[in-house]
Amino acid sequence: MTIKTGARDTDQDKLHEACGVFGIFGRGEDAARITFFGLHALQHRGQESAGIVAGDGHRLTAHLRMGLVSQVFTEEDLLGLRGHIAVGHTRYSTTGSSKLNNAQPIVVRTPSCEFAVAHNGNLVNSAPLREKMLEEGYTFRTTTDTELIARLFCEGPGQDLLDRIRRAVPRLQGAYSLVMATPDQLFALRDPVGVRPLCLGRLNSAWVVASESCALATVGATYVREVEPGELLVIDDQGVETYQVSERESQATCIFEYIYFARPDSVINNRLVYLARQEMGRELAREHPADADIVIAVPDSAVPGGIGYAQESGIPFAEGLVKNRYIGRTFIQPDQRLREMGIHLKLNPLPEVLADKRVVVVDDSIVRGSTTKPIVRLLREAGAKEVHVRIHAPPMRHPCYLGVDTARRNELIAAQKSVDEIKDFLGADSLGYLSLDGLVRAVKVSGSRLCQGCFTGHYPVPVQLDFDKFALESRDGCCEPISEQMVEPFVEPAPSKK
Ligand code: SF4
Repeated sequence: MTIKTGARDTDQDKLHEACGVFGIFGRGEDAARITFFGLHALQHRGQESAGIVAGDGHRLTAHLRMGLVSQVFTEEDLLGLRGHIAVGHTRYSTTGSSKLNNAQPIVVRTPSCEFAVAHNGNLVNSAPLREKMLEEGYTFRTTTDTELIARLFCEGPGQDLLDRIRRAVPRLQGAYSLVMATPDQLFALRDPVGVRPLCLGRLNSAWVVASESCALATVGATYVREVEPGELLVIDDQGVETYQVSERESQATCIFEYIYFARPDSVINNRLVYLARQEMGRELAREHPADADIVIAVPDSAVPGGIGYAQESGIPFAEGLVKNRYIGRTFIQPDQRLREMGIHLKLNPLPEVLADKRVVVVDDSIVRGSTTKPIVRLLREAGAKEVHVRIHAPPMRHPCYLGVDTARRNELIAAQKSVDEIKDFLGADSLGYLSLDGLVRAVKVSGSRLCQGCFTGHYPVPVQLDFDKFALESRDGCCEPISEQMVEPFVEPAPSKK
């Protein structure tokens, strides 16, 4: 069962990120409180659930709930999360349902290991790995791929945690940026190709790790560096130890982080996302010029691209669409009448700006087309004389299997229709997509170091083309069925002492 939310109904044509992770080790710091603010900065990466697990040197304490970070934690909750270590997570589900039982960080406990794992990414071999682990005697309490990782690291063969991690890593295929904790150590681990971002920062004498550098800035930490692909950081009172736990393969950071997912004030691979998006707009203007009076952008993520298009084309930039920033992700279902208003819940046009104008509207991507089409209609209803749609990414013809919840291939409009047919479907006067070469030029990171799978169909790791995010819930005998009883967050109790 997936929880349907009102906001999702109006936002269903966007890709959804897999999650945000944050961690801190700092003697004398209120680690949980800092993590709370770090998670706020990563809210855009997942809005279904949030959680923080804190360690005080002796034990881990957890608080996890469904909802936004601001809804999940009260002052009292934070006061209960004591210690100098904390890991936090904001979730959008890519494996397993959106339900409290699957909220993260996941905490597993054995007599010799107490371990919390927060995961951004997606294992592409989760179903066969889980079956194999069941044969080996592991038992599971959630339907997430994260629990497979937590169990292998905590319960797998090996002399100590580091040894168990080293032995488990070759069994994990796919995308994983992990922030993990025991009661006295913080860990950060990135998959061998570094699909999802993960960076290290410094806050006074504390160490901080986060999905994006914007979260470091939010808590006052300075950016130190990226966690390298295949690198494990172990952080404790002795400082930061680094281990290369898997052979480093050629890097394949998700190019969509630059197009849409990451916040514009984040730096990934030394490239400020805002500047990359602006450059995408400039490239787009060179590739697909238009005779127009104004350039507008679909707020918020396409604004830098719209500004870049305007700068390059010399056509003035204007705000033609206003976003309701507070619709966010609500758990209140809109009634039928509001649902029919659809896009109006999220965007309102400014007729005074648009009337009698030839309008270029820049957006970051088209998934199904079900949001872009109403936007074109809104602009026409507001008086636009012509609507020229410009997309600062290439046509998306393939799903993502690496931690992004995309539509299935047969739902992707660019997999089904030509650009001309899409233009007709949208009701636009013209349509132009940025080329892949133009996109890579704008990102200014070598194309060989970027995953571009959703544009090319070539992925940096072998993927299971029939992957289903509910795969761990639907395979008979593979795992526990979803049940209404599984409504508690999964924090394994301490094993009873013999
Ligand atoms: S397939 Fe697309 S969305 Fe998925 S990791 Fe690769 S570039 Fe990113």
